[in-house]
Amino acid sequence: MSETTETWFDQPLAFTIAERHVRGRLVRLCPVLNTIMTAHSYPPAAEKLLAEALVLTVLLGSTLKDAGSQLTLQAQTGGGPVELLVCDYKDGELRGYLKFDAERLAEVGSDPTLFALFGEGFLAITFDQAATGERYQGIVPLEGTSIGDAAEHYFEQSEQIPSLIKLSSRHDAEAGCVAGGLLLQHLPEGEVGRDRLHVRHDHPEWEHARTIAETLKGDELTDPATSLETLAWRLFHEEEVRIEPGAAISRGCRCSTGYFAGVLAKFPEAERRDMADEAGVIRIDCAFCSRIFPVPLDEISAAS
Ligand SMILES: [Zn+2]
Repeated sequence: MSETTETWFDQPLAFTIAERHVRGRLVRLCPVLNTIMTAHSYPPAAEKLLAEALVLTVLLGSTLKDAGSQLTLQAQTGGGPVELLVCDYKDGELRGYLKFDAERLAEVGSDPTLFALFGEGFLAITFDQAATGERYQGIVPLEGTSIGDAAEHYFEQSEQIPSLIKLSSRHDAEAGCVAGGLLLQHLPEGEVGRDRLHVRHDHPEWEHARTIAETLKGDELTDPATSLETLAWRLFHEEEVRIEPGAAISRGCRCSTGYFAGVLAKFPEAERRDMADEAGVIRIDCAFCSRIFPVPLDEISAAS
């Protein structure tokens, strides 16, 4: 490996080990996470869940190549204390929120399983491809210890790509919330331009890469003193690894009074009047930002 700059926070690092048909991605989020978290006041179990889901969103979303493409993670409860989790990524912009029952969530402890959080819930992973307008969606049960386990199942079932996902987060008194993750995937021979006849999870080159990646510790993923290049090098120093830093991640939301006025303009006028209060204002709640946007009816007419 040769690199002139190093990657630390809020920017994914893509890497490929061509000889073993393996591609991967590392990311560590901190400032952007804290910007997202400050809009809410989440208890530790909720913060950890959302932080790791946001890392996963970046790992998957940053694989989208065309501008305007979007990756959405949505976890739906099966009677657990977490009612809803939504995260999305578009052009380096990241956002997410949780809806949960605070009393029930307080009972699950600091390191709950997915079942403790969601009950028999489901995770939907949606890729919206901007260039083709195509949408791919896979839905998998929320099973395992972290949301990364559920995403691994998605790749096995829907995409038939052997994958390893590691996610880790912690709360630091100084830095706040820090979370990191690794995505490793095997794209074996015939992947490009040809259909694969079968998927082999026991392929020796994948076994080798996965065994090495398994040694990566959660503390290393969240260690602010270790660059992502150093992590990749520690793991795969015996291989020829090509690295490529991805786009910087920022917190982004589409909400604004103008945006909501445009959305509301598509509703029939009578319905809009029903939604408005006595002063002629419709109040729209952006769950991502935990903010209410007052949209006056006359501004909606102007937007239509
Ligand atoms: Zn918003």
